[in-house]
Amino acid sequence: MTETFPAPEAMPIDLDVEAALDASREARAEALLEFARIPSVSALPEHAGDMRTAAEWVANRLRGLGATDVEVVDTELHPIVYGRIHEADGAPTAVVYCHYDVQPVDPVELWETAPWDPFLRDGRFVGRGVADDKGQLVMHLSALEAMRAAGRRPPVNLTFVFEGEEEYGSESLYRWIDANRDRLAADLAVISDTGFFEGNIPAITVGLRGIMYAQIDVELSPVDLHSGMYGGTVQNPANALATILAALKGPDGRVRIPGFYDDVEPLTQEDRDGLAALPFDDEAYREAIPVSALVGETGFTVLENKGSRPTLDVNGMWSGFQGEGAKTIIPAHAHAKVSTRLVAHQDPAKVFDALQRFVAEVAPPGVTVTTTYLHGGDPSHTHTDHPVTQAAARAIRAVYGVDPVYIREGGSIPVTAAFTSQLGLPVVLLGFAQPACNAHAPNEWLDLDNFERGTRVIVRLWDELAAIPGEGQPPT
Ligand SMILES: [Zn+2]
Repeated sequence: MTETFPAPEAMPIDLDVEAALDASREARAEALLEFARIPSVSALPEHAGDMRTAAEWVANRLRGLGATDVEVVDTELHPIVYGRIHEADGAPTAVVYCHYDVQPVDPVELWETAPWDPFLRDGRFVGRGVADDKGQLVMHLSALEAMRAAGRRPPVNLTFVFEGEEEYGSESLYRWIDANRDRLAADLAVISDTGFFEGNIPAITVGLRGIMYAQIDVELSPVDLHSGMYGGTVQNPANALATILAALKGPDGRVRIPGFYDDVEPLTQEDRDGLAALPFDDEAYREAIPVSALVGETGFTVLENKGSRPTLDVNGMWSGFQGEGAKTIIPAHAHAKVSTRLVAHQDPAKVFDALQRFVAEVAPPGVTVTTTYLHGGDPSHTHTDHPVTQAAARAIRAVYGVDPVYIREGGSIPVTAAFTSQLGLPVVLLGFAQPACNAHAPNEWLDLDNFERGTRVIVRLWDELAAIPGEGQPPT
């Protein structure tokens, strides 16, 4: 378990803000329930009107909090809500990101009550979006509201970006970020769309893997050939594909593509110690999947391989006869989908080039082999000792009384890479959902205590960021 830290050395909790939060308990809970009643499902066209209603709901709240330049920005799909509270001259500026869209609710029959009729019972909010990500968005609004009620201005400048396509690929957001760099000038980004570790251990996510996805096509002839007539004289594309795929990875779990590891930032001893200290049970993880044995890159622990090391996996392959019984052919062609999960500072385009070169090199003669890039996403990593990560850690410690753990996720939140690579901002992934919260599933829930404490962590984070010496360059 995590240790309890000695009394935090940091600033005292703001008593006026605390009183305001106490007084607004019911109103804040009701705000989340009201927001969660709007069925803002980005993936389903019949909810387009609800998407706009949700965006307007957020925009109105921002206006009520004294935000300026509040705008419901039209995109090709769903609106982005933008707004600013820049009242702290010379203090750092943070871009605050959450999303107001949610996943579809099917299968509806597995919900305890109607998914669009959220409720608060036994210390839990239940309803679509309460954890992912409406609850976290409301926490950000509530933190500001409490500061206002206490007569305080936020001590840092805040630029809000609340999007409506997170569950649908974020395409509009990337284009909008590119076209609006000046409106997003900042010192850091705070993304609240993640969660805690194993049960309810406060966590800061410091790393997310990127991805490079490709397809390998091996062609022999326009049609399948008779294996009795031609077998032994022509190259078999399925055999050739197997040769290529087998060359990509060694029995030690290492990817054999030359240059693949060149840009991988090695884990520091501190990183490794931190991961080793996490309450993670390899055997329980294996049983929960379940699989007969765990494998991985030699020299690394399961948790290291799970989020901190790059991978290469065949995601699918097809060739030749796949029906019942036997058919004696040499297939005309063979194909594979191959993807790599990338870590900082690997570049998807560079990794693809290396793969393409290597495939051409190891491909047997007699077939035409083509490697095609399908899509890619950058990895992201904010160091544990970065001042913004440490400010978030102090905020958590002040409210929860324990130090957060630092985790790396094996998957990606593409918008994180957009903030780091498009805008060059350090990112704090500060989320308050629990791993078991049923995000994307029936009966999604959010713990009321984390809703309350998370709001206080956010208030505290703004104070901690304002107190970082030497940070606050005014936005340009
Ligand atoms: Zn989310």
